Parts: sequence; C-alpha cells; structure tokens
Amino acid sequence: MVTAMNRTRGLVLGLTGHPWVSRTVTRYGMRLGARRFVAGERLDEAMTAIAGLNRVGIRGTLDYLGESVQDAPQAEAACETYCSLVEEIARRGLDTNVSLKASQLGLDLDPKLALELVGRVVETAGRHGNFVRIDMEDSHHTQATLDLFRALRERHENVGIVIQAYLRRSAGDMRDLAAMGASVRLCKGAYLEPPEVAFPDKKDVDASFEELMRAYMASGNHLAVATHDDRMIAAAKRFADELRVPRDRFEFQMLYGIRPRAQRELAADGYRMRVYVPYGTEWYPYFSRRLAERPANILFVLANLFRR
Ligand code: FAD
Repeated sequence: MVTAMNRTRGLVLGLTGHPWVSRTVTRYGMRLGARRFVAGERLDEAMTAIAGLNRVGIRGTLDYLGESVQDAPQAEAACETYCSLVEEIARRGLDTNVSLKASQLGLDLDPKLALELVGRVVETAGRHGNFVRIDMEDSHHTQATLDLFRALRERHENVGIVIQAYLRRSAGDMRDLAAMGASVRLCKGAYLEPPEVAFPDKKDVDASFEELMRAYMASGNHLAVATHDDRMIAAAKRFADELRVPRDRFEFQMLYGIRPRAQRELAADGYRMRVYVPYGTEWYPYFSRRLAERPANILFVLANLFRR
C-alpha cells in the first residue's frame, strides 16, 4: 500500500535522484535555497552559525555533510575532519557537539574500520568533554549502526544514537538502549522505507513517536526530542511534567533553518534547545531529504529560481 506520505517522499526523492536534476541543483543549489538548510560549504560559516545560536541560548550539533564513502582513504579523511572539528570547537569555546553518519566513516566498507574511526572521533571529543551523536541512516544500516554504537558505548560514555519512530522495530531497540543507559535522539525518520519496515501512515508514525518518547522519559535516560511538530513538542512537555523529568534530562532538537522562531521560544522558556547545523560541499542528499519532507520547500526553491 502506498500512502500519501510515501508517495510524496518517493516522488521528490525520485526527482532529486535524477542525474540532470542532481547536476543542476548541485551547481546552483546554494542560490536555489540549500543555504536555508545548510550553514555553508566552509567550516568558518558553520562556526559563525553556531556562535549566533549560542548567543540566544541555543546549543548546536555540527554535521560535516557526507554519506557512504567509496574507499578507506575517504573514510579516514572524514575521521580527520571530525577530529579537527572537535579540536576547533574547543579552541573557540563553542557550545556544540557533533553528529556523524557511520557510513561516512566506512560502515559500508568494513564495520571494523568504522568502529576504529568513529572510536577515534569519540575519544578526541572525550578529551575535550564533548559528545558525539551517531545519526541513523536508512533501514539497511539500522542493525550495523546499533551494533557499532553498542561496541562504542561499552568503552565510552560520550556517545549517543538516533532512533526513528517510523521503524516497526524501534520499540524493541529503545528497550535495549534504555537497559544500556544510552542517550537517544528520537526523530520520525527521513528515508523512503517499505511498509514492512516502517509505518506508512503519518498518524501511526506520530503515535509511535509519542509512545517511544513517553517510555524513554519514564526510563530515566537522556532523551533528545528531535521534531518541529507542535503536537510532539506539546506531548514532550506534558510527559516531562507528568513524569517529573528534570530539564537537564531531555532536550528539544530541530534542524538549522526550520522553525527558527520556535527554537528561540523554547530556549527562552527554559528548555534545552539544540540545533543540528550541517555544513560542507556534500549537501545534496541532505537537501533532497528536506525537500521530500515538505513539498512546499520545492515551491521555495522554484521561487528562488526567479528571484534576482
Ligand atoms: P513533520 O510532521 O514532518 O513536520 C512537522 C512540521 O515541521 C511541519 O508541518 C513543518 O511546519 C515543519 N517541517 C518539518 N520538516 C520540514 C522541512 N523539511 N522544511 C520545512 N518545515 C518542515 N532523520 C533520520 O532519519 N535520521 C536522523 O539521524 C535524523 N536526525 C535528525 C536530527 C534532528 C535534530 C532533527 C530535527 C531531525 C532529524 N531527522 C533525522 C529528520 C526527521 O526524521 C524528520 O524527517 C524531520 O524532522 C521532519 O519530521 P518532524 O518531526 O519535524 O515532523
């Protein structure tokens, strides 16, 4: 069964996957609108974005964009970039941790290589009292990413994981993570998945998000509630009050460029607020997922096409 949510996501990701569209948007993308969602192609642009957020009481999580590298030297290079990023954050005294994709550090090539490289980033972050969040990719990566996380978590405290509420398996995964005392970022999920794997209906994804959020808050572990959805935000506040969850045991997270006023309001209301700030030249897949989540964003891109 193809639902409206999956049809739209499939159409947009199909379109953005077309080689001509990909070439054209990559060429003109920053002007077309990627700049709204991506802090810039250079590190200093990302650092400026983080400093701006910090000034209004918002923390950051920096993502050096990139996915599924082709060979070990590329994975090593991504690892080096992340290690220098962590050093630079400490040097500038910014309030931001980092988020990374395991496939960018070699997970598809060799899980042992990814364990070594992600481990190196986590160790570097640990030396500076910082934290590394491992993003969750499409469902082909779920088990390998969770295995990688478990192996790292046995050695390091300063690493966290992401769970996607649309996956049917997530309740079981979150129970295991709660037993490990893991810090989890809960999001709805951004990839196109078959109905056997992920709930195809938005209402089921939302119901799953609420159930998982409540159970994880009740477990006493740290939860990052990653959503722009007012209903999920209201539910998080309600659960936190009911379960008497201290404000330092959960935080809200949103993406750079999406609902910035709501981000500032949550921070001003005394909630912990963290914004995911991506930067780098490999922004196209990330940008495509943002368009697929909200087709209105395509109109925004088209409007920019005619703006001088
Ligand atoms: P939705 O119901 O999709 O949207 C609610 C409202 O938010 C919309 O009505 C709209 O007002 C606004 N909104 C949502 N998306 C957009 C957009 N693209 N542009 C403009 N407005 C929008 N997904 C993963 O699969 N793996 C990850 O590791 C991951 N990490 C994330 C980290 C953070 C901090 C956040 C906030 C999201 C992350 N996501 C990740 C993406 C997530 O899975 C969703 O695809 C995305 O957040 C949209 O879902 P939503 O909860 O905002 O709710």
